[in-house]
Amino acid sequence: MNSSIRTTPSEIRQTGPRELTICWADGGESLYAVRNLRLACACAHCIDEWTGEQRLDERDVAEDVHPSRIESVGRYAIQIHWSDGHDSGIYSFERLRELGDGGHMKENPEDGGRSSPPES
Ligand SMILES: [Zn+2]
Repeated sequence: MNSSIRTTPSEIRQTGPRELTICWADGGESLYAVRNLRLACACAHCIDEWTGEQRLDERDVAEDVHPSRIESVGRYAIQIHWSDGHDSGIYSFERLRELGDGGHMKENPEDGGRSSPPES
């Protein structure tokens, strides 16, 4: 198996006002709460470059924040322009796949483990 297939999206679409779905070339599908993606932003404004500490305060992010535009960056990432004007976050497909597979997203205590079982 070519592992890059895992991190190549075949389709990226907004499936709801607060929901983004990425279909992957290997047949997998990841669902994201868009606000969680906003909170997962790893740009220099949101994460301290030196300490890796999160500078973004969750309380500063509106409940209804959503992507206003999504651009592709080369063949490895997307850049999301947010409704709150923030647009410096670049999300590599590798990271998105990781987030979609649940690793990071489950850390949100408010999420209540809302992950669907894998389809086989
Ligand atoms: Zn950011």
